[in-house]
Amino acid sequence: MLPKADIEGHGMEKPYLSIVIPVYNEEANLAPLMERLYPAVQGTGRSFEIIFTNDGSRDRSLEILRRMAEDFAGVKVIEFNGNFGQHMAILAAFEMSAGEIVITLDADLQNPPEEIPRLVAEIEKGHDVVGTIRQQRQDSTFRKLASRIVNITTNKITGMQMRDYGCMLRAYHRYVIDNINRCRESTTFIPALAQTFASNPSEIEVGHAERSMGESKYSFYSLIRLNFDLMTGFSVVPLQLFALFGIITSVLSVAFAIFLLVRRFIVGAEVEGVFTLFAILFFFIGIIILGIGIVGEYVGRIYQEVRKRPRFVVRRTYGFDE
Ligand code: UDP
Ligand code: MG
Repeated sequence: MLPKADIEGHGMEKPYLSIVIPVYNEEANLAPLMERLYPAVQGTGRSFEIIFTNDGSRDRSLEILRRMAEDFAGVKVIEFNGNFGQHMAILAAFEMSAGEIVITLDADLQNPPEEIPRLVAEIEKGHDVVGTIRQQRQDSTFRKLASRIVNITTNKITGMQMRDYGCMLRAYHRYVIDNINRCRESTTFIPALAQTFASNPSEIEVGHAERSMGESKYSFYSLIRLNFDLMTGFSVVPLQLFALFGIITSVLSVAFAIFLLVRRFIVGAEVEGVFTLFAILFFFIGIIILGIGIVGEYVGRIYQEVRKRPRFVVRRTYGFDE
């Protein structure tokens, strides 16, 4: 049984809700976001904090956030020393969050802040992680297709069950956040990480909007990287599949060698079919290179972890009590 959320416990010292938002070059979105977010959070009638992590923005985002920290009660800002990525930005805010319920959200208004009360209600029903499924997702067909592939392969490989990994509008119970804070890995994917600690997760459908201003920070290449993070970060199934494939190929090639030997006695020496042989050879060389690549992905990650560099560097914080 999970520790029951303390619903009465108001008081500005320890907020009940922590809203966590990563920000990278979002100057045009911050004011419209705040206009909708603040009333939505206040409307829940709970004590709250809103933690923005400025992930090394090169536009005016930091300046705007600092002003918000002064103007709005409960708004706090973590300033990173550079760009460490969306997931590190969220992890840094998790470490500094105090809320009984922690909610993550994108800064680009793709996730409607008006859904927050529904997420809170879902956690209060006793769920420890609440994921969301984007209804009528407003992204390019290509992005949606890519996501489908990610969702299906991730569920298959990690053995988890989630319909939509990509949507960052999510709620977590403090107990799950504490466990996430104990993980020190330097590449991660938060929804999947949280799923490994969840004992009673749930998913609800939420609306989804087009990015209101600016561009997506994810290129095709970084989406591929993210997918590798997901697969190698949460399972060794790719390696096991390779070992399995190796075993099957060896068995088949022994059978093939016996076949060729017998044939040699019946038909005699042959040299035809050289190009077929090449085609088969190229196919296997391709597979071998892929295998080395997969091993490399794991080795690279192990290297990153053993170096033990800081995962992110906080330059300053605003709005947190000393
Ligand atoms: N973001 C970040 N650091 C990065 C890239 C993105 O903090 O290096 C933030 C970004 O400001 C936004 C959220 O992560 O609040 C999601 O980014 P984006 O909208 O570009 O991703 P998409 O919606 O296209 O998946
Ligand atoms: Mg977005």
